[in-house]
Amino acid sequence: MSEFISYGRQSLDEEDIQAVVDTLRSPYLTQGPKIKEFEQAIADYIGVKYAVAFSNGTAALHGACYAAGIGEGDEVITSPITFAASANCVRYMGGTVVFADIDAENYNIDPAQIRANLTAKTKAIIPVDFTGQPVEIDEIMAIAKEHNLVVIEDGAHSLGATYKGRKVGTTADMTMFSFHPVKPVTTAEGGIIVTNNVAYYKKLLQFRSHGIEQVPYSQDKGGWYYEMTDLGYNYRMTDLQAALGISQMKKLDTFIEQRRKIAKIYTKALQGVEGIILPKQLEQTESGWHLYMIQLENADRKQVFDTMRAANIGVHVHYIPVYWHPYYQQLGYEKGLCPVAEAWYEKALTLPVHPGLTNTDITRVIQTLKEKIR
Ligand SMILES: *Cc1c(COP(=O)(O)O)cnc(C)c1O
Repeated sequence: MSEFISYGRQSLDEEDIQAVVDTLRSPYLTQGPKIKEFEQAIADYIGVKYAVAFSNGTAALHGACYAAGIGEGDEVITSPITFAASANCVRYMGGTVVFADIDAENYNIDPAQIRANLTAKTKAIIPVDFTGQPVEIDEIMAIAKEHNLVVIEDGAHSLGATYKGRKVGTTADMTMFSFHPVKPVTTAEGGIIVTNNVAYYKKLLQFRSHGIEQVPYSQDKGGWYYEMTDLGYNYRMTDLQAALGISQMKKLDTFIEQRRKIAKIYTKALQGVEGIILPKQLEQTESGWHLYMIQLENADRKQVFDTMRAANIGVHVHYIPVYWHPYYQQLGYEKGLCPVAEAWYEKALTLPVHPGLTNTDITRVIQTLKEKIR
């Protein structure tokens, strides 16, 4: 039996491993110099002023919702086709999640549906660069400007992707990247918020570390003095994670090149194959190809999934519409809310993409898929 091909996984080399080992031998395992160095590497790569690293992407989204001032009674619009964390972060702050339907062709949140869901209570938008394809961020920023909303871009899939030649992370008020092992680069667990806004930056730092603010040294208070001025969390990244991240960032562009190459091979091989709808790419965007998602027009998706898995090919499905999960159903969200997303979900299938895939692996995926959908 051929080896299992996973849909996504980390690509690590000896240099990455050595970077972590070196940090293990250093005085600082956490709260040391590697965090700032990693934040600077990300800020420089994107071209933004500030970056704040978190223990994971979900914590980073929580921080962004805090910085944006989301609270009870506020509505936040996001996509139903995303990982639950894009919506959960709103709930952590007591806000209400509003799901706006996706565009049938590019699977990202539809700006017209954002408009349709605006109310007097709307406070923020969390658009998701699903599969690594950037959202129509200019249009979304225009809506936000008109209605005085904060835009937190969920770029968990899209580190290194570009929109109109600009890197994801340069346009929204705050952008989150995740460093989970399947994401573009990894720190094992990890996340970050990038922003050009100094007020958000300060709030993010405070939230990440118990709500503590460093106060300027004053003679009468003593050198140990600090103040906890709001309720925060311990959401810090460790120096071990940051050291891995710094090493991984050197390879990001190569990783993305490889992902784009794989996507091209899939597109070429599957174009015109009956029963397969390929993912449409927006003009003026360059995806990072975190995922390659097709739709099966006629075949039984579950059967194709099962037979591909039986052939040791790690196909997947991203994602179950978020409000279908029992937690959201119990909050009163009903099936049928976003019909485009639901119809898309029933046909969707994720093909494996990661930098470690060999040509033999890719050929195996393509040939097996063509066999199984017949
Ligand atoms: C991975 C992911 C997250 C959460 O990131 P973690 O680092 O796993 O907490 C959020 N949104 C999307 C779209 C993701 O894929």
